[in-house]
Amino acid sequence: MKDDEEVVSTATLDPRFKFDLASRPGAEGLTHCYSCGTCTASCPVSEIDPSYAPSKLIRMILWGMKDEVLSSNLIWMCAMCYNCSFNCPQDVRFADIMRVVREVSVEEGFAPPDRLALMAEIDRFSQMLRQLILDRLLKQPPQEPIDEALLIQKAQEILGEMSPPKTG
Ligand code: SF4
Ligand code: SF4
Repeated sequence: MKDDEEVVSTATLDPRFKFDLASRPGAEGLTHCYSCGTCTASCPVSEIDPSYAPSKLIRMILWGMKDEVLSSNLIWMCAMCYNCSFNCPQDVRFADIMRVVREVSVEEGFAPPDRLALMAEIDRFSQMLRQLILDRLLKQPPQEPIDEALLIQKAQEILGEMSPPKTG
């Protein structure tokens, strides 16, 4: 066995998992995936962090690795840019599937109840930061003034909420 190969115990697999997900709006095309890997090849997050691979996550879902998927930090790494969805030959909408997986993860207690709201805050912060950088890059006055102090405050709030709990 190669170092990067994983052993999957069939006793812990949930064959209903993919169907339960596919019954929710947005995840209907899930079972059409044929593991071509195009999504991973076009993913900007995978480019920066090779441990994140949408095609691998889809495969884990199709195999029924419910607990592993719902408890994985990887499901929170998707930047919802939809590159994978635009490029998928099978019209599998991976970003929408991740949205559904995140909802189920919270519903079933694998992630804290406030995780979805925190992710929305991170996305909003990312967009504000992107706008600030673009305004500087293009040397044009911003359409709306950007409050840099607010940006820093938001970053501190997010990082504070994401800090691991203190022990002792
Ligand atoms: S591009 Fe589509 S078919 Fe190919 S691995 Fe990704 S989700 Fe599956
Ligand atoms: S939507 Fe998520 S998985 Fe798809 S390309 Fe963008 S970051 Fe990657």
